[in-house]
Amino acid sequence: MENETISKNFIEQIIEKDLAEGHCTTVKTRFPPEPNGYLHIGHAKSILLNYGLATEYGGKFNFRFDDTNPTKEKLEFVESIKADVKWLGADWEDRLFYASNYFEQMYECAVGLIKKGKAYVSDLSADQIREYRGTLTEPGKEDPYSTRSIEENLQLFQDMRDGKFEDGSKVLRARIDMSSSNINMRDPILYRVTHMTHHNTGDQWCVYPMYDFAHPIEDAIEGITHSICTLEFEDHRPLYDWVVIECGFKNTPEESPKQIEFAKLYLTNVVTGKRYIKKLVEQGIVDGWDDPRLVSIAALRRRGFTPESIQKFVELCGVSKANSSVDYAMLEYCIREDLKMKRPRMMAVLDPIKVVIDNYPEDQVEYLTVDNNLENPELGTRQVPFTRELYIDREDFMEEPPKKYFRMFPGNEVRLMNAYFVKCESFVKDENGKVIEIHCTYDPASKGGNSPDGRKVKGTIHWVSAQYGKRVTVRLYENLVNEELGVYDENGDVNVNPNSLTVLEDCIVEPALLEAKPFESFQFVRQGFFCADYKDSTEGHPVFNRIVSLKSSFKLPTA
Ligand code: ATP
Ligand code: MG
Repeated sequence: MENETISKNFIEQIIEKDLAEGHCTTVKTRFPPEPNGYLHIGHAKSILLNYGLATEYGGKFNFRFDDTNPTKEKLEFVESIKADVKWLGADWEDRLFYASNYFEQMYECAVGLIKKGKAYVSDLSADQIREYRGTLTEPGKEDPYSTRSIEENLQLFQDMRDGKFEDGSKVLRARIDMSSSNINMRDPILYRVTHMTHHNTGDQWCVYPMYDFAHPIEDAIEGITHSICTLEFEDHRPLYDWVVIECGFKNTPEESPKQIEFAKLYLTNVVTGKRYIKKLVEQGIVDGWDDPRLVSIAALRRRGFTPESIQKFVELCGVSKANSSVDYAMLEYCIREDLKMKRPRMMAVLDPIKVVIDNYPEDQVEYLTVDNNLENPELGTRQVPFTRELYIDREDFMEEPPKKYFRMFPGNEVRLMNAYFVKCESFVKDENGKVIEIHCTYDPASKGGNSPDGRKVKGTIHWVSAQYGKRVTVRLYENLVNEELGVYDENGDVNVNPNSLTVLEDCIVEPALLEAKPFESFQFVRQGFFCADYKDSTEGHPVFNRIVSLKSSFKLPTA
């Protein structure tokens, strides 16, 4: 095997040991999102990690909605999450599950605990429970309701289910140890009363299980072998094992699904938290959860990222136990690398200035054969019209160039990419002193951009025929966050960069680009990679989002 030399990450090491020692015979992982928002790049890591491990060990990957809290969950999110997981390429085959489909089993588990004297109904309020719980340094106090008889508890729990109590008036608690050094073990809440319609079970239930109770049961029912989660759940692991064992799924922690924690993926100076994104959406600062400046999976897809680029990124990030933050430039590196060979390189002028080639016949048009991607001949060629009047980018001309400026300036000869050598003869200014037209002469012997007599030109610039070029809108993005101020201000609001979006309405592109389909991406030579926006493009009027520019100071970290 070719990747035998690559060192295994700590999760792979645990899995291999478990397989070797017979704790499990197969590997079964899951991705358990709560449908309370859109997924982001951090979730992509979890998805690809779980899916990747199942694939690597010939096991199975389950996709399960952890939909135990109807107050925050919506069908809209269920649908978006499904689309995202699918797009990323994590194939759950026929194993899409909903925690809410296990509500009856969970309820039975709770009844079983009551019968064993391991759970009781409490009337303490949320505040009182917090007060009784104690602190890291002080043990908790016994719940005054913990002495209720099994019969009374069974009846009360049934009454909770039957809708006889108001929200928050009663909870079911596990009876574990109020003086445990682990606060999670101090009689944690298992069930709460919530009169709310659930997106899957409707009004069937008014008691809902807490995450810490529901999650291990979901894993145990599905036969998950390795339950991978993020670091904040480390202290919950004893409770996870307690639930699996006390509910009778397994006898020992060794046989139980094994919870393994890894560090969350953070991006430096990037907003990932659901509640912050929600606020940006609500305030209209971004145009929805898939605004191309965000790092939700939907936004990355809209911006023009590919599943392959995200897979590469996640791979480069690795898995670890230590929290750290990755630079956004690494994500940009991954998409650049992925698109470089795959996508055609087209000419687009973002800030046009007209060029007239005075010695070129007025009504002539030549269709030049141009490679779609010089580095990848498989992409073939296309025909690009060349005419007497063209557009070039304003930054490719200077009236008074500084040293080492090799592009167009009066008296200088440059190469029009794939076309001819042209020499700038003169230019015209408007009443405000702005250059509006450049006049050149061309050398007919330099067709294809080849030197006719060994003559050298130092600059090569791109262009688009004025007659055949098409006007499109192009959007350039910068970080949504004002990096100088940091991500959040003192009120917890995002410090928004006022220049995060630039809309260019008058770009001129090769005619072929007008046929761009939504989500189709291209390299615009010398400018970057751009993707046709699926929301704002209309028939014949594509809007292009810049995915990433071409240049970067980013260096791959060396192993
Ligand atoms: P957030 O707090 O960002 O909204 P969450 O943890 O509440 O995320 P869940 O739907 O509960 O979102 O998460 C589903 C899975 O994704 C969990 O297993 C969780 O550990 C994992 N996950 C969430 N955020 C990250 C992250 N930044 N990096 C890696 N995995 C993550
Ligand atoms: Mg969550």
